[in-house]
Amino acid sequence: MHREYTLREAYRRASSFLQDNGAEENANFEAELLIRRLVGLDRTQFFMHLSDPFPADLATKLEEWLRRRAAGEPLQYIVGDQEFYGRVFHVSPAVLIPRPETELLIEAVIDEAGRRFAEDALRVVDVGTGSGAIAVTLALEKPQWHLTAIDLSASALEVAQMNAARYGVREQICWLQGDLLAPVGAGLSDIDILVSNPPYIPSQTVYELERQVRDFEPHLALDGGDDGLSPYRRMVSALASVKAGPKLICFEIGADQGRAVAELLGNVCQEVTVKQDLAGLDRIVVGWRSAVG
Ligand code: GLN
Repeated sequence: MHREYTLREAYRRASSFLQDNGAEENANFEAELLIRRLVGLDRTQFFMHLSDPFPADLATKLEEWLRRRAAGEPLQYIVGDQEFYGRVFHVSPAVLIPRPETELLIEAVIDEAGRRFAEDALRVVDVGTGSGAIAVTLALEKPQWHLTAIDLSASALEVAQMNAARYGVREQICWLQGDLLAPVGAGLSDIDILVSNPPYIPSQTVYELERQVRDFEPHLALDGGDDGLSPYRRMVSALASVKAGPKLICFEIGADQGRAVAELLGNVCQEVTVKQDLAGLDRIVVGWRSAVG
């Protein structure tokens, strides 16, 4: 790709490269997206400027991106971001790419808290924050809340803090590195809301996931132990060890985990509800620990 050519030619070539190299499913769309991101054009601009020259100094980068995509790497890691709850989050292979289903977790937390808490300045802990999508979104949607974000991975926390800084809420969030609720220690008693999208895929199933998840997303964020329930079990047992502590607990779950996680939460909550995602699959479990007023 050395002589000068147009965006249209670059687009056609990129699309046929993807088609011929194992990424045929959305080749046109993906070729367009990669080129638009490289040259910095939105969709409308792109189709209006198809006859413009493709900048020669971007050709090597485009080739690299196309090779990575053909090898199965998620587009989000290649371009470095994913939209979540209407905002753009930086992502790297250190973090799970935020999923649209997790937006329902945000809605569940906001709705449930709005219905039952009298006070405004709630203390919220997000366990396994990853890209920070949950903690940063809640900090922005609820500026009066005090967020704590925990992750076992230092490199995930770096990504999350970068996202928080981008939206000006880095100081509003307390950042802790460690395993599930462990870093909170006795402070668990002072928390009002626990929210988490923990790893919940059974260890064996991780190897059966589609290639772009299995080979590129961090297994630390996916692998929930033998039956996928280990993180819930351990968080619930931490909750069982304190009298006070989170009154509202919102977990994202795998589609077949509704009953098991509801049962687990039932050990520490008086009220447990399983909510479905847009595909009608169990996706969120909400627990209330005692009457709140
Ligand atoms: N929803 C993710 C997936 O299907 C898994 C997320 C998780 O384990 N928390 O890949």
